[in-house]
Amino acid sequence: MDLLNTLVDKGLRRELPTRGEALAVLATSDDELLDVVAAAGKVRRHWFGRRVKLNYLVNLKSGLCPEDCSYCSQRLGSKAEILKYTWLKPDQAAAAAQAGLAGGAKRVCLVASGRGPTDRDVDRVSETIAAIKEQHEGVEVCACLGLLSDGQADRLREAGADAYNHNLNTSEATYADITTTHTYADRVSTVQQAQAAGLSACSGLIAGMGESDADLVDVVFSLRELDPDSVPVNFLIPFEGTPLAKEWHLTPQRVLRILAMVRFVCPDVEVRLAAGREVHLRSLQPLALHLANSIFLGDYLTSEGQAGKADLDMIADAGFEVEGSGTTTLPEHRADALAAGGCGSGGGCAPCGDSASEEPPARLAATGDEAVAVAAEAAGAAGAGDARTDLVAVRRRGAGTDLPPNA
Ligand code: SF4
Repeated sequence: MDLLNTLVDKGLRRELPTRGEALAVLATSDDELLDVVAAAGKVRRHWFGRRVKLNYLVNLKSGLCPEDCSYCSQRLGSKAEILKYTWLKPDQAAAAAQAGLAGGAKRVCLVASGRGPTDRDVDRVSETIAAIKEQHEGVEVCACLGLLSDGQADRLREAGADAYNHNLNTSEATYADITTTHTYADRVSTVQQAQAAGLSACSGLIAGMGESDADLVDVVFSLRELDPDSVPVNFLIPFEGTPLAKEWHLTPQRVLRILAMVRFVCPDVEVRLAAGREVHLRSLQPLALHLANSIFLGDYLTSEGQAGKADLDMIADAGFEVEGSGTTTLPEHRADALAAGGCGSGGGCAPCGDSASEEPPARLAATGDEAVAVAAEAAGAAGAGDARTDLVAVRRRGAGTDLPPNA
């Protein structure tokens, strides 16, 4: 297929696809799905081999958030029956991290609900980073604490944080539909503050919130422009007790198309298969390893993933290998740029949304609008399934263990 050959060539050169090409990936048929996965898999293997990086979430503070993100079980007014607790102590968080590290996780993601940290919260997290790094020298620590105020990114970097996560989640045009208590621009600003402080930026999206294909392409192109080192791709877990509880739009095939599109647009970036993979991919999870080079091990913040051992078995059975602590995740040009404090997109490509050809791919309709129509039709054909609330399990234990969460 001309489209896929073109996208592979561009992915190997880090050249930005056109919007039409990205939309066309989302509009491919089920008959073409394995070809799409194989093509994006070539790009994935070029930059990341057959390695899978494991990440482990520690929810430092759960629930009771004053923000109103409609997808979130921890939001203001959420009726989801999740665990709620305030800050874990550094030794408790370090013990929780230990469960994931013992399972092979290379990065620990320290997450706290809330609009953003106070300076006292940054102190707490700094102490937690020290406690984890004291026991595990080589571990990567990513903080995810919400919107940052001036100087907080620098303080986290000085405390030993390696990365900072703050997702764009959806397109700028639809952001106000999912959250009213902060803006898309607030989120972009926090990612940029993290980058300016020398933290490796992690920023991604949530698919399945009722967005159009054009919205998905918009947010992924915005991420390419923002140039984070890692892009988590979440698939909405429609929690009972949240405004999006009835939003069941995703099929396993659509999830794979979305991951392939992200890989083509952000070819040399750590694409992380994040929340919702078990719920929406179900038995097709192993195919996603050909697209993403990173996953969370075990559970999510407030919902259960599959057991950590099942994750490890899946990786081995699919012919992939867990990335060891001695291996640098990012391709050399990105790792060097991060070490130098510069833009990870390097030279020789068409980064940041500029200068890429806007020629439509051969198999597409000739205009962007028609491509959108084709994509919308395909999305409609996929259709919203019946609500599968039986698939959503609230988190009651630590990943891959019988321990309670974060213990
Ligand atoms: S700020 Fe974070 S914890 Fe709070 S509602 Fe939004 S996503 Fe959830």
